[in-house]
Amino acid sequence: MILMLVLLMACSGNKPKEEFAIGKKVVLVIHGGAGNINRDRMTPESDSAYRAALELSLKEGYQILMNGGESCEAIIKAINLMEDNPLFNAGVGAVLTSEGENELDASIMRGSDKNAGAVAGVKTIKNPIDAAYSVMTSSEHVMFSGAGADRFAAEQGLETVDSGYFKTEKRIKSLERVQKLEKEHGTVGAVALDEFGNLCAATSTGGMTNKKWGRIGDSPIIGAGTYADNVTCGVSCTGHGEYFIRSVTAYDVSAMMEYKGYPIAQAADAVIQKTLNLGGTGGLIALDTAGNVAMPFSTTGMFRGYITEDGKVTVKIYGDE
Ligand code: ASP
Repeated sequence: MILMLVLLMACSGNKPKEEFAIGKKVVLVIHGGAGNINRDRMTPESDSAYRAALELSLKEGYQILMNGGESCEAIIKAINLMEDNPLFNAGVGAVLTSEGENELDASIMRGSDKNAGAVAGVKTIKNPIDAAYSVMTSSEHVMFSGAGADRFAAEQGLETVDSGYFKTEKRIKSLERVQKLEKEHGTVGAVALDEFGNLCAATSTGGMTNKKWGRIGDSPIIGAGTYADNVTCGVSCTGHGEYFIRSVTAYDVSAMMEYKGYPIAQAADAVIQKTLNLGGTGGLIALDTAGNVAMPFSTTGMFRGYITEDGKVTVKIYGDE
């Protein structure tokens, strides 16, 4: 089968648009955050470091799927690798609050039964996505926050760390920059389709640099930052969370497919445009049960990639590639 990739870049204002029609099923799609990501701001070294990190996540998640693993297992692996890499705004690379602390958010949703789990504002869980998964599978609830969520994760036997673990030099500097008004994004997310035809979607983040008052964005909110339904698609978002919450962005992609009959690319584009119309920049990844993928964004770039069933990896960063 010939892989047919159609990339449409329709740039109206700051709205790059991507649509894919592919001949091979996409089994895993990931993002490492959307934002002001330009070639001239990236060194060749950081460009290749991001590409290598995305590729590693895709390949490791793919291995799980190819060995008969479930979609949730594959995306957790892919996200764990990004959480453990200080390049991304999740896990060890999480951005800092206005007080120089880390408060991490994560969520996961399974498309087969629409079960979901989330944690918000956690401070000592090394891999917040694991805690979100535990909430889904080992509690009768959907979302835990703050100290209670940290205690729950510890009781579940998940690895905990001293809060100093998350404080990297890079994020201390970016807090200083953002406090002087420069915005930064960088959440991670993944959606996978397994051999059983089941979708799973997840998102993990440090939130937005310089956040305060216990601010929580879209990432841990089911329907806003993460959504999965086998009837439609799985979605993980990244961007200015307040607007993604108000737009109910992730669910809106699914709703457009279910109620309007839109194909995934059209639904994803329409939703990113609606979110942008409110004033919110960012992007999302979406995957349907037929293996079609959409990765639209309204920022200048988004770290993103996917792997198809034949093992072919595609990784992209900027708006013009
Ligand atoms: N959506 C995340 C938040 O608002 C941030 C991001 O994706 O960069 O917390």
